[in-house]
Amino acid sequence: MESVEIFEVGPRDGLQPEPVFVETAKKIELVNRLTEAGCKRIEVTSFVNPKWVPQMGDAKEVFQGITRKSGVVYSALVPNMKGFERALECGLEEVVTIMSTSESHNKKNLNCSVAESLKGVEEINRAAKQAGIRVRSYIATVFGCPIEGAMDPKKALDIALAFESFGSYEVSLGDTTGMANPNSAYAIPKMIAASLTKARLAVHYHKYFGLEFANNLASYNAGIRIFDGAAGGLGGCPYAPGARGNCATEILTEMFHRMGIETGIDQKKIEETGEFAQTLSTLLHQKEGVKC
Ligand code: MG
Repeated sequence: MESVEIFEVGPRDGLQPEPVFVETAKKIELVNRLTEAGCKRIEVTSFVNPKWVPQMGDAKEVFQGITRKSGVVYSALVPNMKGFERALECGLEEVVTIMSTSESHNKKNLNCSVAESLKGVEEINRAAKQAGIRVRSYIATVFGCPIEGAMDPKKALDIALAFESFGSYEVSLGDTTGMANPNSAYAIPKMIAASLTKARLAVHYHKYFGLEFANNLASYNAGIRIFDGAAGGLGGCPYAPGARGNCATEILTEMFHRMGIETGIDQKKIEETGEFAQTLSTLLHQKEGVKC
C-alpha cells in the first residue's frame, strides 16, 4: 500500500503566533494527544529567545512534560546556536532550522541576511553531527514572499543544495503565506527533488481557501511523500494579515486515506486533536470572518 509521512507542526508552528499565552499543561496535552493519534513526527516547540517569542518561553518545560513514545521523533525549531544548545540539554533526536529565500523576509523574521542564515544553519549542522542529532531544514517563502512577491525557484534550489551539503537530512519547502498554486506546487518540488542526492524533500503549505490541499496533492503527484500539517489548521501571524494558518493535518490525512494512502494516523483521533487544538487558539477566533 502507498504511504506518506506527516510531519506535525501544530505545537510549534501552530501555537507560536498565538497572542495569548497557552498554558504549558495544554501544550503538553496537545503533544500527547498527537502521539496517541499516531503521529510519528512532532515539532514540539521552539528554542527561540523568549524575549522575541514569549509563547515558546516554556520550551524546556514542555519537552520535560510530554510522554514520549518509542518510535516517535519529537523535534524542535532552533533559530540559532543558542537555541541549539538549549535543545541539546533536553535530549532531542532532531532539531529544525529555518531561513527564507527572500532577503526582506529573512531580515524581518530572523534579523539577518540570507548569507548569515546559511552560515548559521551550517554551524548548527556541524554541532548536531558531533552530538548525533539529525537536522531538518525549512526554506520559507519558496512559493512567493509577502514582501518581495514572486520568488525565483532557483534561490530555493541553491539553499536546498547548501543544506544538503551541510548535512541536513531533510528539507521542507515552505509556502509561508499561502501563495503557492498547483502548478508551482508540482514544478518546484519536482525540480528541487531531482537535484538532491541525499536529503529528503517535504512540503509545507499554508491555508488559502482550501488551495493548500490542491497544492499538497500536486506535490504528491510530483513524487513528494512527506507533508507538513498542523492539527486544527492553527498558525499564521497576528502582525501579518497575509499569513494564514497551516494546512490542517486532519483534512490532509482524510484526503490521503480516501485515496487509499496510509499515513499511520488514526482519522478519528486526529480530528478530535484538531478540535482540541482549536480550543487553544485565540487567533483563530479573531480570524473568523476572514475566510481562510
Ligand atoms: Mg507553517
